[in-house]
Amino acid sequence: MFVDKAKITIKAGNGGDGAVSFHREKYVAAGGPDGGDGGCGGNVVFVVDDHFSTLIDFRYKRKYVAENGENGGARRCTGKSAPDLIVKVPRGTVIREAQSGRIMADMSDDAPHILAHGGRGGKGNANFATSTRQIPRFAKPGFPGESFEVTLELKLLADVGLVGFPNVGKSTLISVVSAAKPKIANYHFTTLTPVLGVVRLDAERSFVMADIPGLIEGASEGVGLGHEFLRHVERCRLILHVLDVSGCEGRDPIEDFEAINRELANFSEALAECPQIVVANKSDMAEEAQIDRLRENITGRGLPFYVISAATTMGTRELMDAVGEALSKLPPVKIYEAEPFTQEDLAQRFADRQAFEVEVEDGIYYVSAPWLEPILRTVNMEDYSSLQYFQRVLRSSGIIDKLEEMGIEEGSTVNIFGFEFDYIR
Ligand code: GDP
Ligand code: MG
Repeated sequence: MFVDKAKITIKAGNGGDGAVSFHREKYVAAGGPDGGDGGCGGNVVFVVDDHFSTLIDFRYKRKYVAENGENGGARRCTGKSAPDLIVKVPRGTVIREAQSGRIMADMSDDAPHILAHGGRGGKGNANFATSTRQIPRFAKPGFPGESFEVTLELKLLADVGLVGFPNVGKSTLISVVSAAKPKIANYHFTTLTPVLGVVRLDAERSFVMADIPGLIEGASEGVGLGHEFLRHVERCRLILHVLDVSGCEGRDPIEDFEAINRELANFSEALAECPQIVVANKSDMAEEAQIDRLRENITGRGLPFYVISAATTMGTRELMDAVGEALSKLPPVKIYEAEPFTQEDLAQRFADRQAFEVEVEDGIYYVSAPWLEPILRTVNMEDYSSLQYFQRVLRSSGIIDKLEEMGIEEGSTVNIFGFEFDYIR
């Protein structure tokens, strides 16, 4: 099965927490703080692997989670950073953030792309000693790793795309001009996965041709493959529009030509404007008059027209030379630029980081805020400056305001993730 779309979740590792620890040595009374920092969480990194040609693996495994960094240790030991999680995708995979549709990466080059950054480790208490605070009994939590829901979409990278009705000879053509060996058969729906072939003109010049399935096969007969595959032509620099000039299946090549162009235009303006070379195939079975009629029509539209017989390779060399010539004058394959976060995205992420809910039950105020959990984990309630830090967080995030708005009274109990304390103004 050819799968060219998938939706997955990626999550980078959290940073490890900083450690609270004090130097201990025989005969040394009060050692200084020596809690080390947490290690970094692993990134989620995407790389191209040319062994893959579909996204099928992503239908089965949908979660990609990098490891967390280790916590810091005593003796200023920094926690170990987690390794990156490497995700391999076929070349031409476009990755978007599912929520916003923002393009995060176009996996067309060989560079690794970091799509979710691991969280930094928290600082250990060794960092917090000052002349006025010699015994810091707190450390900082690790930062959470980035997490996204992303869509993967394979958009093949080919210079030339073959389009045309079923059975006009597209697969035959690619098989005689390249080493690609697609299925060729005298019935429709034979080509179900795109086939890429490299056409070598000479020692220096070559280009990639794609035989693309579906298209009209589905669209015209209501099978539903139709447009699904057109996205693979989207990046092509040139379309080879293949027609059966012999009309051996009882169809009219001019009508076919117009029908296909309508489909292309329906799919996208860019496709409709992609330069075309029109190829009259099966000329070995055609009458001169049929060829002349088609030539007149196509050249009348100002389009380049080539007569070939893919089966006997007649005219294919000239056609490939013309394709090479045309490509040399066309812009390179389209690569999508990664789009930065929009203002709304950033605002949303910031809001998420500060979001909380408060509920009252039996006089106890329950605060839930996922982002508060790691902070709470590292706060030392016995330590004055650590508590102060915690209170600052509660105040700046608006939790205190909310509690007061809800009418909290002096001495009421506040519960945050099971940790309870009395509210004191
Ligand atoms: P596709 O559906 O467009 O990929 O068409 P195929 O390449 O599978 O070819 C469909 C049928 O047409 C096969 O039986 C081919 O052998 C035949 N065919 C392809 N090219 C030619 C040609 O130039 N001349 C003749 N006579 N038959 C051809
Ligand atoms: Mg085919």
